[in-house]
Amino acid sequence: DSRILVAGSPVDNIDMQGVVRHAETMIQQREKCTIFAMNPEKAIAAREDPELYECLNSAGLLIADGIGIILASRIHGVAFRERVPGSELMPKLCQMAAKNGYGVFLFGAKEEVNKNAADKLVEAYPGLQVVGRQNGYVSEAQTPALIEKINSSGAQLLFVALGSPKQEYWMSRHQEQLNVIIQQGVGGTFDVLAG
Ligand code: UDP
Repeated sequence: DSRILVAGSPVDNIDMQGVVRHAETMIQQREKCTIFAMNPEKAIAAREDPELYECLNSAGLLIADGIGIILASRIHGVAFRERVPGSELMPKLCQMAAKNGYGVFLFGAKEEVNKNAADKLVEAYPGLQVVGRQNGYVSEAQTPALIEKINSSGAQLLFVALGSPKQEYWMSRHQEQLNVIIQQGVGGTFDVLAG
């Protein structure tokens, strides 16, 4: 197991390639895995908020997103393999999905940003199947229909861009109802991809 505590916060000592390989294996074995990104802001917030700590620690993988986590790990005497930025992981997971014919679903951000991010990914990874997408402005009342939309899309990977900690709470709350195998919380990544 790769999970360690850095300054009291859980995080996995795993490199980028390791995360992509793990995700691929989990899809093959049909074992659900949620990926959250850990950065100093979330680490500090989680130390003061047991509910957030529990939510984050429940992730299948907690990647060391920020350089702050890497630096803190050195101070605590653990050398992290490398930084795994969530915004770089998402395209790598899409590349893996395109290679295997796995469907991806994009949930979050403004409608135009969401659409542009999907277009950019398909352009970068020809053959990538974006089997569904939904902007991030969905009410509580509309959520059951969204879960149904995600499930009927047949997506194996779901990327959630609602910002933190909103996306982390949303993902853990709905993990059981969702049929997707891999979920990644990606924060502002759709905005970055959309350009
Ligand atoms: N967002 C959303 N629904 C919301 C609130 C935010 O889709 O109810 C989106 C917002 O449009 C933006 C992203 O979530 O695309 C937030 O990005 P931010 O950089 O603030 O997230 P962080 O990476 O800092 O957690």
